[in-house]
Amino acid sequence: MFRYLIVFGFFTLLGTCSQKVSKQYLSEIVIPVEAQIPTAYESKAPCKVKENYMPDTNHVDHTPLKSIRINFHIMNGGNGTANFDEREGTAFIKQVMFVANAKLARNSQMRLPIGNNTAVIPMRYRYELTGRPGDPKDDGIYFHYDNECYGQINYGKQKNIYDKTAFERYGVMKDTVMNVFVMPYPEDSLSSKTFKISGNGIAFGNWVKVCGWHYNATKDTIWKGNKYEVPYGEWYAAKLMHHEIGHNLGLRHSWNSNDGCDDTPKHPNCYGYSPKPPCDSLWGNNFMDYNTHISAWSPCQIATIHHNMSPGKKPKLRKMLVPTWCDFKKEATINIDEDITWNSAKDLEGNLIVKNGGTLTVRCLLSLPKGAKIEVHPKGKLILDGASLYNDCEEKWKGIQLLTAAGETGTVVYQGGSEIKDVENEIKVALETERN
Ligand SMILES: [Zn+2]
Repeated sequence: MFRYLIVFGFFTLLGTCSQKVSKQYLSEIVIPVEAQIPTAYESKAPCKVKENYMPDTNHVDHTPLKSIRINFHIMNGGNGTANFDEREGTAFIKQVMFVANAKLARNSQMRLPIGNNTAVIPMRYRYELTGRPGDPKDDGIYFHYDNECYGQINYGKQKNIYDKTAFERYGVMKDTVMNVFVMPYPEDSLSSKTFKISGNGIAFGNWVKVCGWHYNATKDTIWKGNKYEVPYGEWYAAKLMHHEIGHNLGLRHSWNSNDGCDDTPKHPNCYGYSPKPPCDSLWGNNFMDYNTHISAWSPCQIATIHHNMSPGKKPKLRKMLVPTWCDFKKEATINIDEDITWNSAKDLEGNLIVKNGGTLTVRCLLSLPKGAKIEVHPKGKLILDGASLYNDCEEKWKGIQLLTAAGETGTVVYQGGSEIKDVENEIKVALETERN
């Protein structure tokens, strides 16, 4: 229960009487005497609940799309025959990017538990291939020829999957771009009969290694399981990349019961369908399984990712995102015309309009880009309940504009220790000192 409400606004500018609708920037909020009690800390608690970061399927635009900067390093041996050459490598990476982003745009139904009706929630992030700024020749795809660190061995005595040399030598913009190292198998290992070929990858928190792309891309393009055919090539590559980057975004393997998500059931982690139980039925399709059919992220996993990308949660990850919330986009305007509560931090990219009949309750961080405003229409209501309105780019947003028509003015309720910062049209929050 909220213990109090405050609904006072004063305007410095009054609209001219000849206009039907007048607009004024809110300039002062006065907190009534009876409401002057300490901040209700619990009002901020929902911001820490990861489930609240799940995109709202009825209002997908309320979760603006995030972009993760990404680059690729094609590791090769000195003679250049262990991995893609520069022409085919560039083409392959572009295909991987296309396929990976297409998959992010189209999530699938979870396969397990069998008969589930787990919601299919849209992913609200994409990858953006990023070269060094100011260098038009840099496409974010790099080729390295280094006999010392080009090959990956996933098993056995010579296992080097944890080796970081490639990243240390060749990483580019390590703090702001997620570097993906595309590792081939060592050429001399491939000729050995005992070498175990496996398409492992590994995530290191803010960069990843993926293995076997070249080997698979140059083989048959379809993996023929016992019952299902699975495409190889860029499809296989994109899946492995989603899995490894999924770790960097905060996801754990989904076949265990300790992944922090109830909608990814514990299961035997079958690589795919096979006629023998349990893999005749209990094969999954989650991106965090080791599975050839992977194609689904669960709602909880998506909420986890979006929570981790929110301000303050994982600062290192946040730096890898394109700061899309710094550029004002008129087409990114969000209109509220019903009763909506935002229980999670949000980065808006345009104006926010609370229309007549709409009520918006904001309970967490809400960043607005330079040039953006919040508009509250005469019969609209904005409730700031533990909200922090601010700009996350060291600039100023415009402020809260109230519309008046037929003697009615948009309402702003201010409670729960809310704050309004970084505004051009400043809003003074005052305490009422006496009451008649
Ligand atoms: Zn993994």
